[in-house]
Amino acid sequence: MALTPGYFDEGTLIGVLTTQPLDRVLDYRAPEGGCHLGAFVEVPLGPRKVLGVVWGAGRGNYDISKIRAVIRVLDAAPMREELMAFLTRAGDYTLTPLTAMLRLATRAPGLGDPPSMRKIYRLGDTTPDRMTDARTRVLDALRDMGGLSLTLRELAEAAGVTTSVVKGLAKLGAVREEDSPRDTPFPTLDPNQTGKDLTDDQAAASATLRAAVATRSYGTTLLKGVTGSGKTEVYLEAVAECLAQGRQALVLLPEIALTSEFITRVDARFGAHPAEWHSGVTITDRRRVWKMVAQGGAQLVVGARSALFLPFRDLGLIVVDEEHDTSYKQEDGVLYNARDMAVLRASICGAQVILASATPSLESWANADAGKYTKLDLTARFGAAVMPEMRAIDMRNEDLPGSSWISPTLQRAVQQRLDKQEQALLFINRRGYAPVTICRACGHQIGCDHCDARMVEHRFLKRLVCHQCGETKPMPSVCPACEAEDKLAAVGPGVERLAEEAQSLFPDARLAVLSSDMFGSARAIKAEIETIASGGADLIIGTQLVAKGHNFPLLTLVGVIDADLGLQGSDLRAAERTFQLMRQVAGRAGRADKPGQALMQTYQPEHPVIRAILSGDEQDFWTAEAGERRAAGVPPYGRLAGIILSSTDMQEVFDLGNAMARNDGPLRRVGAQVYGPAPAPIARVRGRHRVRLLVKAPKGTALQPALSEWVAPFKLKGDLRMAIDIDPQSFY
Ligand code: ADP
Ligand code: ZN
Repeated sequence: MALTPGYFDEGTLIGVLTTQPLDRVLDYRAPEGGCHLGAFVEVPLGPRKVLGVVWGAGRGNYDISKIRAVIRVLDAAPMREELMAFLTRAGDYTLTPLTAMLRLATRAPGLGDPPSMRKIYRLGDTTPDRMTDARTRVLDALRDMGGLSLTLRELAEAAGVTTSVVKGLAKLGAVREEDSPRDTPFPTLDPNQTGKDLTDDQAAASATLRAAVATRSYGTTLLKGVTGSGKTEVYLEAVAECLAQGRQALVLLPEIALTSEFITRVDARFGAHPAEWHSGVTITDRRRVWKMVAQGGAQLVVGARSALFLPFRDLGLIVVDEEHDTSYKQEDGVLYNARDMAVLRASICGAQVILASATPSLESWANADAGKYTKLDLTARFGAAVMPEMRAIDMRNEDLPGSSWISPTLQRAVQQRLDKQEQALLFINRRGYAPVTICRACGHQIGCDHCDARMVEHRFLKRLVCHQCGETKPMPSVCPACEAEDKLAAVGPGVERLAEEAQSLFPDARLAVLSSDMFGSARAIKAEIETIASGGADLIIGTQLVAKGHNFPLLTLVGVIDADLGLQGSDLRAAERTFQLMRQVAGRAGRADKPGQALMQTYQPEHPVIRAILSGDEQDFWTAEAGERRAAGVPPYGRLAGIILSSTDMQEVFDLGNAMARNDGPLRRVGAQVYGPAPAPIARVRGRHRVRLLVKAPKGTALQPALSEWVAPFKLKGDLRMAIDIDPQSFY
């Protein structure tokens, strides 16, 4: 293969990859002054101007007289070859067109705009004739900054005055108002500040990780440790090493709500805030992060999975915290798993990966077992904290009226905690008030008009909500089927209904309900979590949101309302997920100096998964689960790909599915098998009928090329759509 030149002189034929859905690199001429490989450019496409990246030499297979020139090179660092290689390989792996991969890497609107400006304020040369207390405070605040400048809001806040005081001083010349580019470097983090005194276990793990980072080469470590064992403290040491090496670090968190607590810890450890990248970040800030990451003006980024596609200048470490979390799998658009893509990117750019979890995924566990990953284990909680005692409440022996879910045994346990002024948490993994609304006259269950799903009552919103498509409607007053009045009844518990029951059982307790849909913003969730952590509630009722890494030092009892819930699905990972979730939730209890207890309501205490959760014997659980998956030839001991076909026309989807199943030559040639077509478990979403095919292959099969060859002949007519999900996580 010919070496790609790094620079193209004016007029040379170049290939430009655009973000338009065209599925190929287009030929252009290099602009006046030439351009670098990887340069971000604006090119003409039909009547439009679009964003693109110089991807290599032109192919010259297009009418040379029609080839147009690049309009301009944007003021951004060229994309590095490492990122180009990553996008290419990630696209090949997930069977995603490169243009769509490029869109993931350019999610910062206005990249081509001139840098936007903002007003900043610094000390002027005059002193006003009339000084007020407020004015003195402003000038003092600026003097304290030693010549640094502040924005209007920062200055007003620092001085404790209104912005009009600052504006007034600016008019008098006592304060200078200047324009300054908004895209400025992030404050410097100091890796040499001393961290906490580590325990022997923590110190050993930290030394191993530091040494790995110091090699400046690829490697993955699974950092396993019970909740509260200090995994975060330990991986912050690896971050320190990475920063000391002058390289950049990326920490991925599964949930935006966890960011602020993490940022506080970064600030305490390194003396400044890191850059943030997630859906809650404003457009201007996104552009700043994107540009600074590329220029080296951001040393540490904390963010969501999409941060993996940022144009790092020299990435040395990626931490994937709570690596087992299902939210790392992107479930629409480009279907990728951020955990796996982190490993891919690191292997290309010579970085280390740390996968941190109390309950690793079976995939990572197996990779560590096979020696592909280094494994570090923190077995004890930090300080006096010990893992909670786990017990089952056998619901077959509990005397509980219908429409109640808190058993007498659990009630007594909660009351004891409340009496001792300790916190208790009741966990149910279901949002809303009730999962089903049924008519007691005719038996009709209220469903979504567009999906094969029942609508979930949300009393807090006073509406019925479809959890598939988000459609909502007001609660009807009569049955939509038989028109009977006052016959609609809520069936089954959701978090809101549980809260109602808890309030009536414990009328004096201060209740806090934590469910992702009950808050308008990440900020509101954060505030509620802080209130709880500082003792502003006695009884917490929560969904999955509470299971994820929050620290509640006063919490000593966790009651799981329905430990059997996750085991009902036919999902391949049902056992694994239940095991992880139950251990994560239980891990919320007893994180400080008071011992905790976890009680799990179950109708099947002898179920192997429930028994494994109770005994806490992880090794046994994983060995058994691994054995079953190996026998079935499913991940991580075999390969799977899901194909989802959808259309508004049911016949059309089935016809296509059947045709695909019949013409499976390319798959059979590599030893893969097709199952289906079958209606997807949720057979209609947003008015589209859905059909699934499942492709199964032995581990090590080069599945993607075979899949591409297999699907290529099938043209998608009308509104037929096909999504290919490599390593599917969910099977809905
Ligand atoms: P994990 O990430 O494993 O859940 P954390 O790193 O959050 O654990 O540690 C749990 C709590 O214990 C945190 O409040 C943390 O600051 C504290 N902690 C852990 N290790 C130490 C240490 N060596 N010195 C002081 N505090 C520590
Ligand atoms: Zn719906």
